[in-house]
Amino acid sequence: MTRSRTVLAVDMGGTKLAVGLVDDSPKVLYQKVSPTVTTSRDGCLSDLYDRLDEMVAKASQLAAIGVGIASMVDFADGRLVDSTNLPLCNVPLRDLLARRYTLPVVVDNDATAACIGEHLWGAGKDASEMLMLTLGTGIGGGIICRGKPYRGCSGAAAELGHMVIDVQGPRCQGSCPAAGCLEVFVSGNAIGAAALAEAQAKPASALGRALADGEAVDGRLLTRLAQVGDPDALMVFERVGSLLGVGIANLVNIFNPQLVVIGGGAAAAGDLLLDPARSVVATRALRPQRDEVRIVPARFGADAGIVGAAALAFTELLYEEA
Ligand SMILES: [Zn+2]
Repeated sequence: MTRSRTVLAVDMGGTKLAVGLVDDSPKVLYQKVSPTVTTSRDGCLSDLYDRLDEMVAKASQLAAIGVGIASMVDFADGRLVDSTNLPLCNVPLRDLLARRYTLPVVVDNDATAACIGEHLWGAGKDASEMLMLTLGTGIGGGIICRGKPYRGCSGAAAELGHMVIDVQGPRCQGSCPAAGCLEVFVSGNAIGAAALAEAQAKPASALGRALADGEAVDGRLLTRLAQVGDPDALMVFERVGSLLGVGIANLVNIFNPQLVVIGGGAAAAGDLLLDPARSVVATRALRPQRDEVRIVPARFGADAGIVGAAALAFTELLYEEA
């Protein structure tokens, strides 16, 4: 049994940056969340250094740094190759952090890190074949294959959110050159946009009245209204959840996983989003794949990113290989 140690965990998404101290129980001992600085590469990195300096000053003993980031990562080099929703392209992040903090550092895609965390400690503990989708600014993806993360030839695999589900669909966001990707329809951003469109189309609805009253019409309001049975909010979740199901049905046919774990901020909607997805998978995916898969929420909810970054550090840098 490895003795409990503390790592510095970083979860950088397109909207928020979480940094924290996590041990391997796993417990988030301290965490600070701030908006991600996306104005420039230098601004983004210097804000990251400031946040990390604060954390390093707080911790008495750190064993390593684990970073999950919304980028395509060359895993062997710890280098950010490109990022859809961040101003970070060709950044040797692992080496920059290792030099600055003289600690072992591991850098991976944020959704792959979240997937490793759910596999090590959470919803996917007993699964050897699992997938994870994180619904945030975009959609991140993670793949566990035969009990290990699958990263492709350079580390950029598992961009599951950029699976095209409508070739005639709208342009994807950020630097993705495609159109009609799952991310366009089902990410946290997309759910907020669907709520706003519904509010504009139906001024007399609860969503429409909220918009007229100057309330923020977003995924949070949509979830609140759906939870008390508002029919228009429920319909938006039905629509979005069904499209999520189309994406998952494709993945289930390809990977035949035991488990698909859904995380990220938008996953707070829980079964409002997952039930329509489950029905689509039950009717559209092939057998036996559709009968063998379970679609479940992430155990670590809003902490899935930071817990995942910690799990990455423990599995890659601190635990002995069995
Ligand atoms: Zn895309």
